[in-house]
Amino acid sequence: MKCQRCSKSAVIYQKYSNAHLCKNHFIEDVERKIKRDIRKFKMIGKGEKIAVALSGGKDSIALLYVLHKIFKNRPDLEFMAITIDEGIKGYREHTLSHAIKLTGELGIRHIIRSFEEEFKTSLDALTREKENAACTLCGVLRKNILNKAARELGADKIAIGHNLDDESQTILMNYLRGDVDRLKRMLPGTIQKGMVPRIKPLRSIPEKEVALYGFMNNLPVSMDECPYAGSALRNEIRDMLNNYEVKHPGTKYSLLGGYESISGFLRPADTQIVFCEKCNEPGSDRICKTCRLLGRK
Ligand code: SF4
Ligand SMILES: [Zn+2]
Ligand SMILES: [Zn+2]
Repeated sequence: MKCQRCSKSAVIYQKYSNAHLCKNHFIEDVERKIKRDIRKFKMIGKGEKIAVALSGGKDSIALLYVLHKIFKNRPDLEFMAITIDEGIKGYREHTLSHAIKLTGELGIRHIIRSFEEEFKTSLDALTREKENAACTLCGVLRKNILNKAARELGADKIAIGHNLDDESQTILMNYLRGDVDRLKRMLPGTIQKGMVPRIKPLRSIPEKEVALYGFMNNLPVSMDECPYAGSALRNEIRDMLNNYEVKHPGTKYSLLGGYESISGFLRPADTQIVFCEKCNEPGSDRICKTCRLLGRK
């Protein structure tokens, strides 16, 4: 098949837009959508310091690469990367080495923090008794370190590599659970006291295209899956959405677009932020989730 914008061979067929694209036009298309969203949601402002949450998986690797490419001629901006080593044996070592390689090549300051140094334990050790809770533990503790590290570095924003699949799954999950508070917190530009605001420049890029973008740019792409991968509900929703997308191309974009349309009616989350009595980090209760999960007395 030929690219619809030039005569070169196509590397992808985007069913949702009925377009065949060659390597260069595919890369251009991905970067155009990212730039559009960064502008539309005012993700990055003049003179800002952006901390990129770099797990070393394909999404965050592509995110750091593309932000560096788009903004390399903007001396007013500063990008840095933060990697959290949760202590997942046989998995995190690979992604960590990819993160070190890419930040070295791009000359980006790289900060590595670990559960071990922060909490004197590892995710593997914590989940020995509660394997089902791996993702909850991982998510809460990682968010805690990430926020603390970004704040200490003086970052204005944390960029995370959530792609269209992640976003549409989360939206649907929150609809199904009736979790309006979480839906509100997903609104771009949500500000919570003590929390460094998060931006998601890849929110309009399908997961497969993020992987292809990495591959086309010779990025160190790891397709390894975390041994604890995903909650049961998220996995069900992922499969369901992927099936819908095959039968009804554009479903994931419709979910995202529908959410954006109703978001005008959602007031920003008014969760009262309080500072934890144990660790002084922001949260919604007297004792924060991190301290509760770690059983801090
Ligand atoms: S799949 Fe779960 S345990 Fe593994 S890195 Fe992701 S959130 Fe953490
Ligand atoms: Zn082309
Ligand atoms: Zn706490």
